[in-house]
Amino acid sequence: MLDENKNLIQGENGFWEVVIGLEVHAQISSKSKLFSGSSTDFGADPNTQVSFLDAGMPGMLPVINGFCVDQAIATGLGLNGTINLMSVFDRKNYFYADLPTGYQISQFHHPIVTGGYLDIETESGGSKRIHLTRLHLEQDAGKSIHDLHPNYSYVDLNRAGIALMEIVSEPELRSAAEAMAYVKKLRSILRYLGSCDGNMEQGSLRVDANISLRRPGEPFGTRAEIKNVNSVRFLGQALDYEIQRQRELLEQGQSVVQETRLFDPSKGETRSMRTKENAHDYRYFPDPDLKPLILNPERIERIRSKMPELPDAKKARFEKDYGLNNYDANILVAEKETGDYYEKVVGGIKNTDTKQAAKLIANWLIGEVFGAMNRENLTIERLPFLPVHLAELVDLILDQTISGKIAKDVFSHMWKTSKSPAHLVKDLGLQQITDEGLVQSVIDKILSQQGDKVAEYQSGKVQLFGFFVGLVMKELQGKANPALVNELLKKRL
Ligand code: ADP
Ligand code: MG
Repeated sequence: MLDENKNLIQGENGFWEVVIGLEVHAQISSKSKLFSGSSTDFGADPNTQVSFLDAGMPGMLPVINGFCVDQAIATGLGLNGTINLMSVFDRKNYFYADLPTGYQISQFHHPIVTGGYLDIETESGGSKRIHLTRLHLEQDAGKSIHDLHPNYSYVDLNRAGIALMEIVSEPELRSAAEAMAYVKKLRSILRYLGSCDGNMEQGSLRVDANISLRRPGEPFGTRAEIKNVNSVRFLGQALDYEIQRQRELLEQGQSVVQETRLFDPSKGETRSMRTKENAHDYRYFPDPDLKPLILNPERIERIRSKMPELPDAKKARFEKDYGLNNYDANILVAEKETGDYYEKVVGGIKNTDTKQAAKLIANWLIGEVFGAMNRENLTIERLPFLPVHLAELVDLILDQTISGKIAKDVFSHMWKTSKSPAHLVKDLGLQQITDEGLVQSVIDKILSQQGDKVAEYQSGKVQLFGFFVGLVMKELQGKANPALVNELLKKRL
């Protein structure tokens, strides 16, 4: 499991241990906002999706969106947390131009979910359990736009009031790589559940990273918080920079200031934004317009009974049912769509040895298909051929109609023409040659032309075998059954 020492950093005068805890804001995939009926569609014109409530007009009353509550419950269950039958909405007070009410409705003392965990892949191929502190529901704020006018800032309230789940981890991450793995895994689980689309570019998933350094065994050091990181790669870069910055400060005998910092991707640096508020600065108190959220246990059970299979369970099943190794299974379950596609292909197989076929399909998907997808910048939903066609191609390899090498040609035709591989093999005359007599005659011809080489081979230069195989294959346009060529050549030589 965890190799504590591996993550230590060699400093000038001894080792440092990195301590990271993440707060992830995940936008709930809901058509309407947490307490109002306004639309949440991304990319609408500024301030076109703002109700009186979102705009902070006096006398408006919030009404909780039951669908969002269900999504938070499902997410809490998916993350192995405890769903609290009573939770409370608090007002978190602060003054900012994009917050017209002057407070954000959030949950502080009584969140909807407590505890939970998720398992991440470590770099050494093992796994590590990261515990969660809580998951709570809150509203998003609006957006201030500072770069449209030299003298003024603009405010877009479309985002104000959109439902977020804030998911807080314990400070158990020990490197930038672990933090990145954590976000990837959390994103994957949310996407499987459908509770958040995980779109980091559009801001549906934003990460606040808390990071500090300490000497191994010492109490936690003072942390800095890097706000609103919107890509996994930037998270890694921001944390690497911060580790370096804090290490230098501490080694020079200075102290880290508890503050909020921003990552600038163009410079690869973090810089101070403001000193960190403490909870008491927010003057939290229960929102008098909202009753405590009381959940019926049956509601939780109903949601539990409809939970989809999550990535860890899918991975275990792929390993068991299809004999996949850890590496392949990980890749195939990371995105729900990939796992679904894989199983569609496996379902289309006619060959009787499903495990052998399943392994070969995994190779093809991860190798040829993903390679071509990357080249053409396509997602798996937009492949130019059907899952059954890939199954058919694998069947053709397994029943020895074509060799693996020819299959790659067929694949590229399949990609271009969207035709079935069986048709392509026929049309292009690519069937494997298994006619012993024909192969034998070609071997005889080649060997008689290569008298010198045959003599060399027979006097001990056995590495020439591949050379003969190559010539025979070339003569037969690569279509001869490789096992047959090998066998007949050996006999002859
Ligand atoms: P706040 O209320 O200021 O956001 P929390 O105590 O809720 O602070 O912690 C926020 C996040 O910071 C959590 O993910 C937690 O794991 C992490 N964290 C707390 N202390 C440290 C520390 N010393 N170093 C790194 N991360 C920390
Ligand atoms: Mg916080």
